Amino acid sequence: MTATPLSVDGDRLWADILSTARIGAYGETGMNRLALSASDGEVRGWFEAECRALGCTVEVDAIGNMFAILPGTEPGLAAIAVGSHLDTQPAGGRFDGILGVLAGVEILRVLHASGERLRHPFTVINWTNEEGSRFSPAMMGSGVFCGVHDIETIYARADKEGVTVGEALEAIGYRGPHAPGHLPMAAYLELHIEQGPVLEADGSAVGVLSGVQGLRWLDVRIRGTEAHAGAFPMNLREDALVSAAKVVLATQAVALNHPPGVATVGYIHAGPNSRNVVPGEVRLEIDMRHPEEEGLAAMETKLTAEIGRLVPGAEVSVVWRKAPVAFDAALRGAIRQEAEGLSLSAIDMVSGAGHDAAHVAGKVPTAMIFIPSREGLSHNEREYSSPQQCADGANLLLRSVLRADQLS
Ligand SMILES: [Zn+2]
Repeated sequence: MTATPLSVDGDRLWADILSTARIGAYGETGMNRLALSASDGEVRGWFEAECRALGCTVEVDAIGNMFAILPGTEPGLAAIAVGSHLDTQPAGGRFDGILGVLAGVEILRVLHASGERLRHPFTVINWTNEEGSRFSPAMMGSGVFCGVHDIETIYARADKEGVTVGEALEAIGYRGPHAPGHLPMAAYLELHIEQGPVLEADGSAVGVLSGVQGLRWLDVRIRGTEAHAGAFPMNLREDALVSAAKVVLATQAVALNHPPGVATVGYIHAGPNSRNVVPGEVRLEIDMRHPEEEGLAAMETKLTAEIGRLVPGAEVSVVWRKAPVAFDAALRGAIRQEAEGLSLSAIDMVSGAGHDAAHVAGKVPTAMIFIPSREGLSHNEREYSSPQQCADGANLLLRSVLRADQLS
């Protein structure tokens, strides 16, 4: 490597962010670039052409994940990869996911301009359908790549119009020839906006992620007795919604008693949902998260017991259990050191949201970097990180890639 450390061009990165944001744009800053839509196809075409012009081959796998590969100097080594996703929510912004891919393109530009090469192949990945808003589940492409989902099952998933994943991939020309999981990786790094308010409130430039929180989804069904809201005396009622209110408060209390756990009742359906009828049945959906499996298990046990105590007869079922993910210690240490070298104030964080990196971490040494998002907003057209914040994140990503190249 050269004596002068390589550095990204923040203006060039910003120009890429603004110009590609026109693909699938609405209003001033809104983005509607759903996975496998025509605009997703268009931005994929841009990504492919740019990467080829920078000396890469571009490989596409059977679920449409794209891998832009710049050969390394030593044959036979697995790739050092960076990546994220170019799809957005239907009312999304210009940074969530996009930054991680475009920062990878910017690193390719830096390597191309300097003539430098890594020892390992350097790969920039665009994962298919991270957002999961048109087709579920979210993090689809990385999940298929890592063997979490079976591809035939995923091909059959349909959107609201009945179009399947397989058909949508064909329609935009991105059902590729490579088998899922084809690319050997020595390390995977993902740069992403925080999607929460912590870095901004803290005044830190970057977050170095120790992992991704584990998760439990609980469904609760409470039965009461429907009755006339005027004619039935209070002391004889079985009001399912009043019981549900106790569950909502118990959910909050369990999270508060297991810091840094969080728990939310995000969905509630009361039946028959009529002003003058005592509710006879309520369904609640609970989302609980904690960075440690022990804490998460304790929350599940405690909340289940509390619901049983407060609302005897309530049915509780756990519909999804996802263990916490821990990122690679050596890569995290390298990122911390590189942040210090760049004079970027860094804090350790756990991701509250899911990311492609969470899947990849099951297969490959993985780490993530966050930059601040203004007011913590994401999945929102007002989502914003400044040119300087994006450049800082991309520079740290570049330095971390160069370090990872020496680690293995
Ligand atoms: Zn994202």
